[in-house]
Amino acid sequence: MAINKQHICRIAFYITFLLMGFNIIAQNEIGNYKVALGVVDYNNHSNIVLRKFIKKGNPFFVIVNPDNLETSVIPSEGITFEPSDWPQITEKFKKTPYIQSLETAKKQSLSTEDSGIVHGYPKEHSITLTIDLCPSHKPLDRVIFSSLINEFKKTEKPVPVGLSITGRFMLTHQDDLLWLEGLVKSGDINITWINHTYNHHFNPKKPVTDNFLLAPNTDVSFEIIGTEIALLQRGLVFSAFFRFPGLVSSPKLIDQVAAFGLIPIGSDAWLAKGQQAQSGSIVLIHGNGNEPVGVKDFINLLHTENDAVMKKQWLLYDLRESVENEFQE
Ligand SMILES: [Zn+2]
Repeated sequence: MAINKQHICRIAFYITFLLMGFNIIAQNEIGNYKVALGVVDYNNHSNIVLRKFIKKGNPFFVIVNPDNLETSVIPSEGITFEPSDWPQITEKFKKTPYIQSLETAKKQSLSTEDSGIVHGYPKEHSITLTIDLCPSHKPLDRVIFSSLINEFKKTEKPVPVGLSITGRFMLTHQDDLLWLEGLVKSGDINITWINHTYNHHFNPKKPVTDNFLLAPNTDVSFEIIGTEIALLQRGLVFSAFFRFPGLVSSPKLIDQVAAFGLIPIGSDAWLAKGQQAQSGSIVLIHGNGNEPVGVKDFINLLHTENDAVMKKQWLLYDLRESVENEFQE
């Protein structure tokens, strides 16, 4: 078996896990991490359990509220867990925005590029902003966030952003993550953490059909779960959304991702590719320092829409809210 960058990263992940273990064991270590599917009653509401794990010796569930797509980590002790499977869950919750968006994403899986949900509900002049944090040696493009906070300070606080995060970005951007967490704490931004895989394998010399998650020997399960654990270790809760690296997928991959309970989110406005943002667009820019054109376009867009922003005619939507509205009956 050839040792490639992906394998090295996976090994590095496990070693970091082991080394950090001694420090973290007493604090944050997450063990026994498993995909678990079932239903629990929480806050007088039927929620779907997606994962279970042990932290500091205590058992937890990761749950999703099928009506508003909010995910939470809850202590599982004393909670009645009703085990289930996807056919049963799909039937029981078929009218909810969560199951409807999951089913829609599966149906839109015919093309290799940009599958999944690409558009939200265009209530007014509004877009949903997603920023991809693919692996990069460059620092986070902080100007995106400071521009957003500045433009929306009088109309929307916190500013909702979807961040598609990779495990490898997290390994090398501790300061940037602390900075982002600080902006959340100060109420400036509100982040929906979208799983963008752990390694985000990309080989510029390979065709798309042999690249990203379609590369041979890709461990899809590790790519998803590795990122989830990395987020949970920091006390961050991942959302029910997933973004394919390079927006490249296949029907098989979409089914695999959906089996984890994650909704693939594409984009109908990848600004650096010249696609324009319309009402309801899910806009994509890269925040990892590698796409200055997209960032410049976005900041220009903010400036052009400044008047509308000030009059609250132009808003940013929380991804959870825009998907919920799109699929609400
Ligand atoms: Zn990416």
